[in-house]
Amino acid sequence: KVRVRFAPSPTGGLHLGGVRTALFNYLFARHHQGEFILRIEDTDQTRFVSGAEEYINECLAWCGISPDESPSKPGAFGPYRQSERKSSYRQFAEQLVANGYAYYAFDTADELDQQRKLQPNFRYSHENRMSLRNSLSLSEAETKALLDEGVPHTIRIKMSEDEVVSFEDMIRGRVSFETKLIDDKVLLKADGMPTYHLAVVVDDKAMEISHIFRGEEWLPSAPVHLLLWEYLGWKDQMPQWAHLPLILKPDGNGKLSKRDGDRLGFPVYAMNWIDPKTGDLTKGFRELGFLPEAFVNMLGVLGWNDGTDQELFSIDELISKFSVERISKSGAKFDFEKAKWFNHEWIKKSDNENLMPYIEKALAMAGVLDVNLDRVNTVLSVVKERLTYVSDFWGQASFFFEEPKEYDVDAVKPKWNADKTIFFENMLAEFEKQEDWTASTLEPLFKNKVAQSGMKIGELMMPYRIMLVGGKFGPDVFVITELLGKETVIIRVKKALE
Ligand code: GLU
Repeated sequence: KVRVRFAPSPTGGLHLGGVRTALFNYLFARHHQGEFILRIEDTDQTRFVSGAEEYINECLAWCGISPDESPSKPGAFGPYRQSERKSSYRQFAEQLVANGYAYYAFDTADELDQQRKLQPNFRYSHENRMSLRNSLSLSEAETKALLDEGVPHTIRIKMSEDEVVSFEDMIRGRVSFETKLIDDKVLLKADGMPTYHLAVVVDDKAMEISHIFRGEEWLPSAPVHLLLWEYLGWKDQMPQWAHLPLILKPDGNGKLSKRDGDRLGFPVYAMNWIDPKTGDLTKGFRELGFLPEAFVNMLGVLGWNDGTDQELFSIDELISKFSVERISKSGAKFDFEKAKWFNHEWIKKSDNENLMPYIEKALAMAGVLDVNLDRVNTVLSVVKERLTYVSDFWGQASFFFEEPKEYDVDAVKPKWNADKTIFFENMLAEFEKQEDWTASTLEPLFKNKVAQSGMKIGELMMPYRIMLVGGKFGPDVFVITELLGKETVIIRVKKALE
């Protein structure tokens, strides 16, 4: 049975790399009719940020990758927050000590700081563990006395001294590590909380996780986890791992960070995130006006392709085509222009019914209230293909609802003349008489008049557009004419001639 998990730590907003990890887990689960689990890894209380878990839930829901089991939708393997599983970890840490794979360490934080001062590269490892204060260097009686006194202590893994551990990564193939380079990681902290290393192994076992897709930054931790699976006697149940390629800066130079977004002016978070401590806002794709379909599509092909040139995939297509073999080993460059292209394509592709809720939200966010939604729907069909973001709607369409606030007079004034005034006065007279107000009759009417005037079409079309729209943009001017309606068109042309 395929069971995968997304295991974020609630430390802030979700970076697009985090969402991609969630997505790949989800795609794999759905592809294999398996289960997708959300587990909140909140054992590091110092990094806990309130509101982050809610953000994660909302983000997954927005992307349409809802977990089958999660803190808010518990299944048979709960609880789904590590802090609530606290009591289950100590026994495993103790079991490791009893079997000689881990030991009690009594060094205080001050003592360790002292060591770090003496040696900047200090690591607690097989090289120096015998000269530090732990159950390996102390006698059994000394250790027992300290434990009986209740002296605070951690439990550390006794890293194998000289071994090569390796495993078969689903993406990278065989990866090997020399244990002599790895330190004795803390497994259980003095406050009784497990560290990530212990908790992740215990929980993946308890939750019967079969496959793990996680970021490449976790690869260096893999040998520690691998040994823990072995030392706990669970090696034959170890999940298969896939370490996903990094998401790189647009120039390919290193890992994409939140700072790159600030510097280059694009979001790296899925949704707006307000830091509860500082009140700082980090902007997200959702509020910028991305459709979740586009965001998911863009992430789905960041480091994966189906082997063809196809780029547009719905989530259902991603599910059916997803294959681990086609995940690339090398990092994937994040290209914001490409992300915008995905959004533009998805807006064009979506029917109005799907778009309307986002448009309504975007209008509300722009402070546009009191618009007729039926009219929005009609206008949407005409401006849809001009939108990069759903939030562009008002900028592209406000003239359908209200008189333009500004007119690009500079584009018209220098070349204006009496002939043009006469032309539009004649045009007004024609408009007044006109009964059939459709683009297909208005266009020839206008063009015939232009031909009679002896002027060039462009000389008159551009000013006409500016009279209606305010600027040199928008869909076909006769479609605009039709949709604005006779009365409004006449009012705007008259106003322009004043
Ligand atoms: N809690 C880790 C994180 O925040 C999860 C790493 C893993 O998936 O093992 O990314």
